Amino acid sequence: MFIKSFKMNIKFISFIISILLVMILSIVIFYSFAEDAGNEETSSDKNDYIKWVDFNVTSEALKLTSKLDIESHNNNSEIQYNWIELLAYLASQNGGNFKNFKQSHLDDLIKKLNNRETISDLTSNMKFYDYYYEAYSAVLSGFIGNYSIETCNENGEKVFEDRYGIKAFLPIAKNYNFSHYDDFGNSRSYGFKRVHLGNDLMGSIGTPIIAVESGVIEHLGWNQYGGWRIGIRSFDSKRYYYYAHLRKNHPYAEGLEEGMIVKAGDVIGYLGMTGYSVKENVNNINVPHLHFGMQLIFDESQVDSPNEIWIDVYQIIEFLKQNRSEVYVSNEETKDYSRKFDMMENE
Ligand SMILES: [Zn+2]
Repeated sequence: MFIKSFKMNIKFISFIISILLVMILSIVIFYSFAEDAGNEETSSDKNDYIKWVDFNVTSEALKLTSKLDIESHNNNSEIQYNWIELLAYLASQNGGNFKNFKQSHLDDLIKKLNNRETISDLTSNMKFYDYYYEAYSAVLSGFIGNYSIETCNENGEKVFEDRYGIKAFLPIAKNYNFSHYDDFGNSRSYGFKRVHLGNDLMGSIGTPIIAVESGVIEHLGWNQYGGWRIGIRSFDSKRYYYYAHLRKNHPYAEGLEEGMIVKAGDVIGYLGMTGYSVKENVNNINVPHLHFGMQLIFDESQVDSPNEIWIDVYQIIEFLKQNRSEVYVSNEETKDYSRKFDMMENE
């Protein structure tokens, strides 16, 4: 009797569960179809953005390709190279791993291009070329182009000179020493267990910090991890530059505010050791350094989400050593610095 009713109960319960499952399933299916019908055009391209970039192009590859690009433009050569196309081609060949990059790989490509083969012909069968081109464009598109920069003429007067070349700057001002190594991905323990998403540039407190690329100040102020920090978004909105641990008491160049535009090469702040503290204006970093980071944004949903893309900027810092902004004390009272040579970008 007992056993019988127990069996009945089991049958009854499994019957109810199956009914419920079928109901839930149909609701899920109904809504997923309804959503598809509603967003027929947007749902497919809505999610069609790059989710991950592993940037490991060596500074050697950056230097060689940028030189080809810049020289072919300045010499008005018949064939003009685009360094991002060259790098995307090489990445398609090496699977995005530049560890074994050799100049001969680039020479082979240049030989083909000089024989009138075009990049679009050469890459038409390369499955991942478009991905690398888009990813590397997001990293590098603000680095080379047309600009005018102040220089001194024979009479010692400042004049603007039009150029095509590298228009991004090292974040450490000219004539100031710094040291660094590839520390991307190293573990950090303050707060919670996490990895290091940038490059630490060790230098003296007060070293003027330079905007690498022009853009809009998105964040300025205290952050528990970064201390006094400044975040600048490139005009194409694909890059977010993060400069952290700025100097106690006088972290920023005078007059900076969120929403303001800064130009590549401008002084934006001063190296320090603030951070790792909920309380503001506290020096809790052991070794004075600039933490420099670059986040790529292909879709705004990636901002402040677990899907943020921070890239290793070590090789980029090595590359940018050739373009540094010279500074001078522009305000004796506040001990603020400014750039010596102004720049204008013209697209
Ligand atoms: Zn750091």
